[in-house]
Amino acid sequence: MPYAITQSCCSDASCVSVCPVNCIHPTPQERAFGSTEMLYVDPNTCISCGACTDACPADAIHPIETLTGPLQQYAAINAAYFEDLAPVTDPAPNFHAWEQPEPPRPLPSARMPLRVAIVGTGPAGLYAAEDLLLHTDAEVTLIDRLPSPGGLLRYGVAPDHLATRKVADRFARFHDHPRTRTVLGIEIGRDLTHDDLLAHHNAVIYAVGSATDRRLDIPGEDLPGSIPARRFVNWYNGHPEVDPIDLPPGRVVIAGTGNVALDVARILTTDPAALRSTEIAPNALSALATHEDREVVLLARRGPAEASYSLSELLELQHLAGVDLVIDDHDTRIRAAVTTAANLKAAALRDTAFETIDWAATPKPGRRIVLRFYTSVAELIGPDQVSAVRTTDGLPLTTSLFIRSVGYRGTPVPGLPFDEATGVIPNDEGRVTDRPGTYVVGWIKRGPTGGIGTNRTCAKQTVDTLLTDATTGVLPPPPSSHRRFLRLATKHRR
Ligand code: SF4
Repeated sequence: MPYAITQSCCSDASCVSVCPVNCIHPTPQERAFGSTEMLYVDPNTCISCGACTDACPADAIHPIETLTGPLQQYAAINAAYFEDLAPVTDPAPNFHAWEQPEPPRPLPSARMPLRVAIVGTGPAGLYAAEDLLLHTDAEVTLIDRLPSPGGLLRYGVAPDHLATRKVADRFARFHDHPRTRTVLGIEIGRDLTHDDLLAHHNAVIYAVGSATDRRLDIPGEDLPGSIPARRFVNWYNGHPEVDPIDLPPGRVVIAGTGNVALDVARILTTDPAALRSTEIAPNALSALATHEDREVVLLARRGPAEASYSLSELLELQHLAGVDLVIDDHDTRIRAAVTTAANLKAAALRDTAFETIDWAATPKPGRRIVLRFYTSVAELIGPDQVSAVRTTDGLPLTTSLFIRSVGYRGTPVPGLPFDEATGVIPNDEGRVTDRPGTYVVGWIKRGPTGGIGTNRTCAKQTVDTLLTDATTGVLPPPPSSHRRFLRLATKHRR
């Protein structure tokens, strides 16, 4: 019985190189890598050796015969990738070149090893640290503005996605590595400057992610009761800088249907008793348990075939115990898209109930999630607090909590260039334009796309660029010692 990759796939491709028959795709050498929702096992060539299960950091790969409940659908999902998208599984010219055992990379002889500061301790920063520590003799200083490391893995991944959060275990050892120093509670631009870092390190890598949220730019967006999804996600993950959120009874409206929006909808409607065994923040759990009934309305600008959630996130909503998932049957294009099923995402909605909803009536008792496609928000109605959301087709939705989940955006780092149009630091394969010794990785390098594992190939590219610069003499030794840097950081730590 072959194996299948399931919902917690992080796409970092750790499994690819251990498969003896090359049946996990797309590989990092294939064009589709980084653009698919997950990786897939070809059931026709898998020999069931089990090697990939040990290599997977997210515990996502299982024999098909052991899959139960909604996970059973992943047998078909894995197989469908090879039926529908066979052309993208190009023959890999360098079969298994990805993650061949890499010998340590020799750097130019110097009296001291390369010293690299990495700003940000989320997955992008830690993949870069992993590459440096495993393949060179570099010393790494990990810096984070928060008192706890982890970034997106700690404060961004849903608390009930325990397998995905397990990826953090992969990185824990690098905080204790003999060539690593971790400095917490230091923000670059507030407590120390970019020049401070360069004065004590050969190179600095910024892995600061996309620190702010895109806006809708609609009237009423800043009213109390209107919040970005990041604040809600940080709140249920116990972020130290987020104020408590008052959850109203009744309806919550979310603009957006990306994976973050579906995470928020799922946490809002999951039975609090089931959340007790997750890593949810205790104050969030108490607030969620306050009201029995809740209706969450997800507004999607486009149709079912174009929705931005992943199939695995949708499957979770469809199998959420005690929660009804319904589609608002307000536009004939929706049924047409689902029945003609242009893609797997639209086809996955075939068994979901359609309902003509009377939005003027009080939401039904119980917990339910409503998907309303082809709907954008025109304005939030006050006067002093959100009382309703008005859509562009004139529908008023009463609510006192509106969550916008329309994407993230990078913010400038003082002392570095910044592209306002794209929200990233301009760079060439990770090397920051016009700033010798400065590099970027992750979302601040390429924009807020791709999941946790995508950062692995991204980090490898940045580290390769940095090491090329080191071998060509672009990274001179810093004028000041590492010990002095640690003293400076201790003095300015918050
Ligand atoms: Fe490859 Fe073995 Fe995993 Fe099948 S079980 S995908 S053959 S590593």
